[in-house]
Amino acid sequence: MFLGHGNPMNTLENNRYTDAWRALGEQVRRPAGILAISAHWFTNATAVTSMAQPRTIHDFYGFPDELFAVDYPAPGDPALAHHVVDLLEPTLVGEDGDSWGIDHGTWSVLVHVFPDAAIPVVQLSINATKPFAYHVDLGRRLAPLREEDILILGSGNVVHNLRRIDWSQPEGSYDWARRFDEKVAQIMTSAPGDILSVVEDVDFSLAAPTPDHFVPLLYIAGLADAAEEKAGVLVDGIAMGSLSMTCFTLGCAEVPLRGSGAAAPLPHVPADESNL
Ligand code: ZN
Repeated sequence: MFLGHGNPMNTLENNRYTDAWRALGEQVRRPAGILAISAHWFTNATAVTSMAQPRTIHDFYGFPDELFAVDYPAPGDPALAHHVVDLLEPTLVGEDGDSWGIDHGTWSVLVHVFPDAAIPVVQLSINATKPFAYHVDLGRRLAPLREEDILILGSGNVVHNLRRIDWSQPEGSYDWARRFDEKVAQIMTSAPGDILSVVEDVDFSLAAPTPDHFVPLLYIAGLADAAEEKAGVLVDGIAMGSLSMTCFTLGCAEVPLRGSGAAAPLPHVPADESNL
């Protein structure tokens, strides 16, 4: 699944997105483990977390203390980490035993999807030095994990432009943001293997001025392509003009939506300094 995590305040709120995440968690078969690709582990290598007890990382600035107090004490899964390293050979995947953990891209959504924090979580980093096609390919090659009851979570945002955020419009959207979000949804629900065509789109540079929040989607597109499946839209929408909250599922029947309300408002901190 791909979840548009938006701003970390969604951790503490209930709105139509967080309600969709909860409904999803209640509906899916409970997995044996979770492999998470988060926008916030964007680094110069491909690595997996291999510690038995990953720490909860509060990798942002300017938010209320309540958010820094959030703990997501899910265990790690060193055996799953080794397995991912083997599966992705000959691509070199490092094992990180002590530096990363569970970052807010992962825990801000998992607190809603699996609030008991009992399912082991392994994170796979995004290698920032690689082209987009590398990530789609890795996604394809992770497909066997789904047969082993491992849920693969991509956490980012289809549209993520912090410099264009409009605080006055919690549910507003720019035309270019809506167009790009709809284009991605159209491809994910019809031919996810063609996802890289959106990189050539006229709206791409505004939708993804930096690649970090866009790349997790590429893993889910690759997974879908490997299984010859189409993604489903769990929930869609844009917050504050330029943050897409759109989420995609794979292999799920329709998840009934029941919530309402806009995505969490962003505190008034300089968005480009907050590490969202
Ligand atoms: Zn983020």
